[in-house]
Amino acid sequence: EAKARGRERVLIFDPDIDERHRLRLRYEASLRQALANDELYVLYQPRFDIAGRRVVGAEALLRWESPTHGSVPPGTFIPIAENSGLIVELGRFVLEAACREAAAWGEASRAVPVSVNLSPRQLHEPDLIRDIQAALADAGLAPHRLELEITETHLMDNVDQMLPVLHQIRAMGVGLAIDDFGTGYSSLTYLKRLPIELLKIDRGFLADVPGDADDEALLEAIIHMAHRLGFRVVAEGVETERQRRFLADLGCDELQGFLLGRPQRGARLRAELDRDRRASPPRS
Ligand code: C2E
Ligand code: MG
Ligand code: MG
Ligand code: MG
Repeated sequence: EAKARGRERVLIFDPDIDERHRLRLRYEASLRQALANDELYVLYQPRFDIAGRRVVGAEALLRWESPTHGSVPPGTFIPIAENSGLIVELGRFVLEAACREAAAWGEASRAVPVSVNLSPRQLHEPDLIRDIQAALADAGLAPHRLELEITETHLMDNVDQMLPVLHQIRAMGVGLAIDDFGTGYSSLTYLKRLPIELLKIDRGFLADVPGDADDEALLEAIIHMAHRLGFRVVAEGVETERQRRFLADLGCDELQGFLLGRPQRGARLRAELDRDRRASPPRS
């Protein structure tokens, strides 16, 4: 009987799943070497004021250029890193690189903050606070110039467990943002209990806007409620001038998207910040 069942299991074996699993294992093995082999680097996507005129920050986005797999998108390798635990090491790499980069903006250009994505695994890592402190100290970066992004889905699944570490981060003076907002099921009132001041609306809401009446209504409601509760709001994935204007009319605070800037090398963004500064010198 047991034997028969065992054979049945072999029969329902799915070659597609097996193939995907094998590919995953190959990626994972390569990813283990990637850091030592210098295959990883960080790009920075600028964030703008609602008029789209001034850079107000930038998000660090990890890239992997593998000699065997080519350029692997983060949507593929981040989950693999997360599952294998490699994300802790990779996350530290991004944090250190981003803090150094932002410190350079502060010297030569304008001192805008840098945002770094934190994955669930990192948030449960006991060394996280120490790693953040070390990255800031090594780079000589003021804590308020760093902002950490956590996805809404993860936050909502683990709020109670996460509250202490979120408060520790805020107590250091580091900023916190909710990423991909609207993809989970949290109510804004619930979020208000968290020590978070910035909300990034998932770009899925923008895809059919302006035009789709439901998405327009949702965007308006999110922005309105977020403001009533004291959050600043960033729209992600702004690709057209019509979208920018629509968001401006709704009172959205900031924008990130291909319309205004793609993820780019730190040096390029630094040059842009320098131009910005010359165009409008800081008041002293
Ligand atoms: P995310 O944190 O929501 O980052 C924004 C993503 O949207 C980036 O994709 C960015 O290139 C893309 N994007 C920005 N503007 C536009 C636009 O106008 N149109 C379109 N179609 N896309 C836009 P990317 O770099 O491929 O990263 C995907 C996700 O991978 C990120 O989503 C983040 O969740 C994760 N990720 C990237 N780097 C890291 C990292 O260092 N650590 C962790 N934990 N996750 C990371
Ligand atoms: Mg993000
Ligand atoms: Mg996002
Ligand atoms: Mg995302």
